[in-house]
Amino acid sequence: MTRRKYEELQERLFKECAAIEREILDTISKRFDITADVTPENVYGWYTDMLMQTGAVNTDARRIINKHSAEISALAQDSLHEYVNYYLLRDEGVYRAAFARGFLVTIPTTIENSARLQQVYRQSGRFISQYLNVTNTTALQSARKKYVDILNKAYAHVVTGSRSYTYAISNACRQMYASGITGMNYISPKGTRTSISLEAGIRRCIITTSSQATGMMQMERAQEWGCNHVEVSSHFGARPSHAEWQGAVYQIEGSSQDYPNLADSTDYLTVSGLKGINCTHEIYPYIPGFSEQRFHPYDKEANARQYQKLQGQRGIKREIRDWKQQVAGAKTAEDKAFAQRKVREKQAKMRSYVESTGVTRHYDREQVLR
Ligand SMILES: [Zn+2]
Repeated sequence: MTRRKYEELQERLFKECAAIEREILDTISKRFDITADVTPENVYGWYTDMLMQTGAVNTDARRIINKHSAEISALAQDSLHEYVNYYLLRDEGVYRAAFARGFLVTIPTTIENSARLQQVYRQSGRFISQYLNVTNTTALQSARKKYVDILNKAYAHVVTGSRSYTYAISNACRQMYASGITGMNYISPKGTRTSISLEAGIRRCIITTSSQATGMMQMERAQEWGCNHVEVSSHFGARPSHAEWQGAVYQIEGSSQDYPNLADSTDYLTVSGLKGINCTHEIYPYIPGFSEQRFHPYDKEANARQYQKLQGQRGIKREIRDWKQQVAGAKTAEDKAFAQRKVREKQAKMRSYVESTGVTRHYDREQVLR
């Protein structure tokens, strides 16, 4: 199967976001000269000099963001467009075939002429632009904060004599690379706030928004064609709350003995339900008598065990990525060697994990992107 166009666009987009983060981290790191002669006696002078450069760090970060922002916003809109089109056109083929065989009775107006579909599409595009704007602002604040954090940490260590200047700086820089530049905060339904990296935040926004917009448009389109049923895909190892309803056919409006109601069963479009955050479940048109059901549920317990295995693998993947990032940000040979040793250690951990659990290894997701 050929790669879908939206996947290529998304990948280019995420690379571009990763480039912003990397360039900002580099520009901050570059300001710290580890060969400088900073001692407990002169550290205060060094500290105040460096603090004066905070404005310049801000200017650098702004320049980096401005350099990439037009490309990022174009890629984000293009990938949304391709994503929505891919699924809507795929469904359109199903409806036309069902119509040709008499299972559907009317042909609706075209997708382009459907006011409701276009409204959902435009709103999603606007949401993405707003998200990107806020992320730009947050990234600037984050850059300034990362810079001042390194300054403060180094100052505290050097002034108390607990660590040498070189050690304090290189350690703080390494940690900065591991945590990345923060984008827009994510606020969970419970109200807890998590700061995630710029790249991870944009990734989540694009994937979730594209998927939600597509879901809403698919449902509108189903109703425009007079189709009241959808099939929900299933994956082995889906999160347990989604395993409850995956792999079944639902009714969009109302419910019946054979087909329960979609929204009631799946929490459709809520953050924790179908087409919510990080949900990769797909919706397919289903026309009783014409469509053949392709997806079925998995055994709940087996699915839950697989989910745990995949979660464990995700954790190790993150560790590999974080240490690779620290290799890139290391300021001394010792630090670099240490981070490289950690990468090899985590890769060995992954090998034995994959062997003992039988999950599939995805090398591409262990690469440093941000
Ligand atoms: Zn899901």
